[in-house]
Amino acid sequence: MFHSIFEVIYLVGFICGILIRGWYGRKYPQDRRAVYRKEGLFTGLLASLTGIGMALPLFSMFTTWFAFANYNAPVWPGWIGTVTLVAAVFLLWKSYADLGYNWSVTSEIKQGQTLVTHGVYRFARHPMYGGYLLWGVSQALLIHNWLTGLAHLAVFMLLYLVRVPREEKMMLEHFGEAYSRYMSQTGRIIPRFRTGYRQQPQK
Ligand code: SAH
Repeated sequence: MFHSIFEVIYLVGFICGILIRGWYGRKYPQDRRAVYRKEGLFTGLLASLTGIGMALPLFSMFTTWFAFANYNAPVWPGWIGTVTLVAAVFLLWKSYADLGYNWSVTSEIKQGQTLVTHGVYRFARHPMYGGYLLWGVSQALLIHNWLTGLAHLAVFMLLYLVRVPREEKMMLEHFGEAYSRYMSQTGRIIPRFRTGYRQQPQK
């Protein structure tokens, strides 16, 4: 069963993650009539692997399949991972909430999509991907197994590198000047807290 308290903490975080994703997935169903789609087979595949990567630690907890890759670790990384997991869950919830209707599983522009520049999107353009990366770091710190601990971080870093430039190109093509202004005032993933996005001054 559980090897340490940190596996229990991961499980609690995982349940929170599923609830957040499930809630917003039901509230904003995917649009089959998207105006613009820019997903390749490769990124689609990586996106599916992301879910599996996040669920793999459950196999470490409830089966012995991956026991060969377990390693021993001191407790302090686990406590750091606990703090970052709480931050990741918060960031994911906040970005799903702020993005609202405009969120989609694949990179696409939905009918009637608007550009979100408020909430967490004021400071960075990819807070949701930031949340998933932070999740990956937390998972690595909490789950002391070379495979099930690192799976999500490895897959998501690859997905991030391939998907973000494409998504930004798509957003630029669709929203034009508004998105390039938004880009110039926000960080890609590192938030620009001191400045952030400012509405265009009224003339
Ligand atoms: N990359 C963002 C959103 C991920 S969801 C993040 O990490 O937080 C993916 C979808 O969000 C894309 O298909 C795109 O259409 C939409 N999107 C991304 N940034 C947006 C924004 N600022 N406003 C509205 N929609 C956005």
